[in-house]
Amino acid sequence: MEKAKDDRVERRFFIPQCLTMEKVRLATFVDWKVDFIKPRDLSACMLYSQREEDHTRCFSCMIFVGKWEEGDIPWEEHKKHSPDCFFMDEPHLHGNVPIMDDKCKLGDQLFEEWTRGIEKQGAPAKDSAEEEKKVEAFKFINSYYDFLISRTLPKPPGNILRTEAIKVLEVKRPAFPSYSSLSSRKESFKSWPKEIDITPDAMAEAGFFSIDLVDWVQCFNCGGGLFAWRSGDNPLHDHARFYSFCPFIKEKLGEETVAKIAAENPPPLAPDRPVQLSEEEAELLLALPVCKKIFGMKMDRDLIATVMKLRVEECGFPFKNWRIFTDKIGDYLDSLDLPEDKKSRAARKGTK
Ligand SMILES: [Zn+2]
Ligand SMILES: [Zn+2]
Repeated sequence: MEKAKDDRVERRFFIPQCLTMEKVRLATFVDWKVDFIKPRDLSACMLYSQREEDHTRCFSCMIFVGKWEEGDIPWEEHKKHSPDCFFMDEPHLHGNVPIMDDKCKLGDQLFEEWTRGIEKQGAPAKDSAEEEKKVEAFKFINSYYDFLISRTLPKPPGNILRTEAIKVLEVKRPAFPSYSSLSSRKESFKSWPKEIDITPDAMAEAGFFSIDLVDWVQCFNCGGGLFAWRSGDNPLHDHARFYSFCPFIKEKLGEETVAKIAAENPPPLAPDRPVQLSEEEAELLLALPVCKKIFGMKMDRDLIATVMKLRVEECGFPFKNWRIFTDKIGDYLDSLDLPEDKKSRAARKGTK
């Protein structure tokens, strides 16, 4: 029997914070069964699928929303159950990256609803040139993320704002040495979704450990992450398909087999480009709402631009919210090793 065509697009991730991207949240709805609520309407409100019944969860406030009923409006439900959600509270300032496809540009109903919500909450009136720049910035992030996830090596955990992404696809040492043993990987699967018929043992055998987020797993060796699993998937096969450069999977299956799997069913591949953002691209990032908020705090423009540029080159997406952003600006200044008074002057340069 021929297998049904796989409708999943991108299942790779490097760090779970990528849930700040709407398209990643949308990709979690692989077996959604509630036909009167569209996954797109949920992902637009910060929600991702829990892969159990109809449960969803907000990436920002972590509230669970489920037991959906006909006529429910996801945006309203989210707000009702979590009035303090940062996203609901200050939607124009969060680090969410909407999908920004044509549907969205043409005034997707939900996006309209969302922006109406913003206006209701007293955000400044929209300036159309500014609005266009913001849309352009979101589109850029979406395409840069595709490049980073398909063309560069997963980053081992550590200090965000290391310099550049690693483009040579050669793994030198295990990204997560503490999960090198099969038993440690097996033990990590404490809350694997019951509805996915793949055993944690099979996952661990394939080099994966659970990051304790729904069905999200990462390889201890190459660091590559995969989510959106379906019953019947073969973890060894998918490891080879998405991360064919991984030394562990090459050792496990043999180089030839890995190359064959990757060639027969290649993962999505975005156009190549430099990892480093051009000056214009870095400038465009300043149109992101999360940057606008920091402007309001009278921080130096060049400093905001530098830190956001480093962040996007590192992860492919902006900070989740302005609070984390300001913390990282502080970390960045610390890393420069300037005397205290110079630091505060650097942060406030250009203000009267
Ligand atoms: Zn929330
Ligand atoms: Zn691997």
